[in-house]
Amino acid sequence: MVNYFEQIAKIIYREWKAANRFTGGDHPDAESLACFLEDSLPVADKRLIQKHALSCDLCAEYLSTQLKIQPHLSLAVPAPLLEKINKLVGQDTRENLFEIFIKLKEKALEIIQTTGDVLLGQELVPAQVLRSRKMNEFKEEVSILKDLQQIRVMAKIQNKSAKSFNLTVTVKDKQGQAMHKNLRITLIKEGIELESYITDSAGSSFFENILPGSYVVEVSREDQKEAVIDLKVRA
Ligand SMILES: [Zn+2]
Repeated sequence: MVNYFEQIAKIIYREWKAANRFTGGDHPDAESLACFLEDSLPVADKRLIQKHALSCDLCAEYLSTQLKIQPHLSLAVPAPLLEKINKLVGQDTRENLFEIFIKLKEKALEIIQTTGDVLLGQELVPAQVLRSRKMNEFKEEVSILKDLQQIRVMAKIQNKSAKSFNLTVTVKDKQGQAMHKNLRITLIKEGIELESYITDSAGSSFFENILPGSYVVEVSREDQKEAVIDLKVRA
């Protein structure tokens, strides 16, 4: 207990010391230095601080580090970069990531790679099994499912003459019974939101005539990401 209070006392003392670093002696006070950095001092005061800093290593060092830090801190971080970081951090857990890589052919579509299972009639078959059976080509459309942390996500991809595709995202509970309505499904390309819909009473959202490319489809509930589909479609 004594140690605990001692630690707090030390923290408070150091904070106080830091705050009062430039008061006393001939140093300008912290307030003046802050105003100097913002360039909001009257010319005469500004000159005084400049003159002081030329002969005081402590203040010169303080001002130079603040000048180095401040422009950097006031920089706005570009949204696509934040998105990228979020994606990287999200992928770190990989627990809510669902990957699909499809090739659109003239009158078929081929599953190149997926972490989900493919719906064949009523049966769910892992994509690797289909590949080994040489059954990874489908006519017109394919439905791929994946169970994530909280939910079961199904992506249905329909080939539109190899030029574009339709995507239906359906969210159910893991037993595949109850539909999840009122979830937001967002289609993102290169960090830019293209379309965003709320799932209907069937737990579905429909995206029409999407061009081949690399997409991220986010399933979210009140800003909480429940699933991220990494969708690549090649023509
Ligand atoms: Zn000084």
